[in-house]
Amino acid sequence: MLKFSYTALAILAATAAVAEETRQLDAHEHGTGTLDIAFDGDRIAMELHAPGADIVGFEYGAKSAEDRAAVDAAVATLARPLDLFALPAAAGCSVIEASASLESEEDEDHDAHADDDHDHDHEEHADEGHDDDDHAAHADDDHDAVSHTEFHAEYMLKCADPAQATKIDFAYFASFPNALELEVQIISDRGATGFEVARDAPTLDLRDMF
Ligand SMILES: [Zn+2]
Repeated sequence: MLKFSYTALAILAATAAVAEETRQLDAHEHGTGTLDIAFDGDRIAMELHAPGADIVGFEYGAKSAEDRAAVDAAVATLARPLDLFALPAAAGCSVIEASASLESEEDEDHDAHADDDHDHDHEEHADEGHDDDDHAAHADDDHDAVSHTEFHAEYMLKCADPAQATKIDFAYFASFPNALELEVQIISDRGATGFEVARDAPTLDLRDMF
């Protein structure tokens, strides 16, 4: 987990927590994800939430080997923030921390209550994968019980010259063809500003933020 040791980063964490409280997975809009970005000194923290539909094209529990491979590939792609949200080379940014995962309503319940249950379920699920009949039934149950999934990623960047971070090119949209829009919130010492970045204009100008 990231350590939010700077003021703006703490604000970002608090803002994201409030957003998560008010936003249910089943309320997300397919095609639209959210990206919160906090600038503080030489650090840039980012937090991405995107519907499973946007990232892998489905939100049921991964049924086939292809599904699972798609999820694994997406998580690996999401763990490379500078390939998705490209900053000018002059800013000299590098990734300090990056984490990405797939979340479902079921997973969130288990995370909230007991990590042991979470691990146990994964083992059960893996076992059932070897039994075709049970696996198919289980997958159908998942589809009813978990109607939506989201990918969640957190990043911490360190930039040699953050004043040169004057724009972000959203290669994200090229990587994920089902993603249409990101609702972006930028937090800096100038305050918080919201933007909508769409697939047909995948660049965000940050010059007014400094
Ligand atoms: Zn959904």
